[in-house]
Amino acid sequence: MIVVLKSNIDSDKQLKLVEWLKGQGLGVHISAGEFRTVLGLIGDTSKVDMELIESLDIVDSVKRVTETFKRAGRSFHPEDTVVRVGDVRIGGGNFCMIAGPCSVETEEQIVAVAKAVKAAGANILRGGAFKPRTSPYDFQGLKANGLELLKIARAETGLPIVSEIMSAHDLPLFEDVDILQVGARNMQNFDLLNELGKSGKPVLLKRGLANTLKELLMSAEYIIAGGNEQVILCERGIRTFSDYYRNTLDLSAVPMLHELSHLPVIVDPSHATGIARMVPSMALAAVAAGADGLIIEVHNDPIHALCDGAQSLRPDEYDELAGRIRKLREALR
Ligand code: PEP
Ligand code: MN
Repeated sequence: MIVVLKSNIDSDKQLKLVEWLKGQGLGVHISAGEFRTVLGLIGDTSKVDMELIESLDIVDSVKRVTETFKRAGRSFHPEDTVVRVGDVRIGGGNFCMIAGPCSVETEEQIVAVAKAVKAAGANILRGGAFKPRTSPYDFQGLKANGLELLKIARAETGLPIVSEIMSAHDLPLFEDVDILQVGARNMQNFDLLNELGKSGKPVLLKRGLANTLKELLMSAEYIIAGGNEQVILCERGIRTFSDYYRNTLDLSAVPMLHELSHLPVIVDPSHATGIARMVPSMALAAVAAGADGLIIEVHNDPIHALCDGAQSLRPDEYDELAGRIRKLREALR
């Protein structure tokens, strides 16, 4: 971290600032120029309150040289992290195809969708059992029973399962779930992130609808700081000025997150658009942008889906899209 001091300042104040910084366990390298003095802070500056220093009357500006997301960031971890779920690998050149319904509804539904998406080439099954709904009167998911049905679908197909966990209290119910999904609305539920850090299970962390990339990486940092590096980042659309679709898919996030972080980055074109017919184009665009995988909602009967039917592909549509994705990946190789 670099602290640029204002010109012609009281040397007593400068001395006090330097002593105060040293008191925080930091080395301070003072470089006195003709007009300005610059302090170079050496050591772990992750706990330093940058805004507080910036607010001092003798300080002109403060700049971080390394990011605060030390564990999620690439600077100290240049090689890609590969997340492992059974035989499936995600990241570091391994592409994942996660598919399934928004919500688990019945055994017939989840098993049928699981078989269909597997046949199309999906390698992980999704299905919500605990649903974060805007209205308390909407379908809230089958909860523990939904997770049991997902496990049946896993047993039938061999596909690992991913499902959203909304509260740390539910962790015991998720013991046998392969990947724990943190939904967009819970991206900054720090108690939940802390518990997932201790869980040791792969986590699919979705970007909040109004969160920056730095905030997403700081949320990943919580999980990793807790001892769990198996984190997959997911761009799922943010709130901007979209009036004809659900959210704005921020595809620039993909190359930028790859630059900033070693964690795999996947894209959810279903929640990003909210419209099934837009899903194929945005899925292909995500592949072209370098995503490490896609999570796509597929339902055997979208018209009658209990949640997010409008954005769900039918199995035949998913099958066709999966073929196009394979061709595109081949062409990009
Ligand atoms: C979901 O995946 O079903 C979901 C609720 O997604 P998000 O948290 O991105 O809205
Ligand atoms: Mn959904």
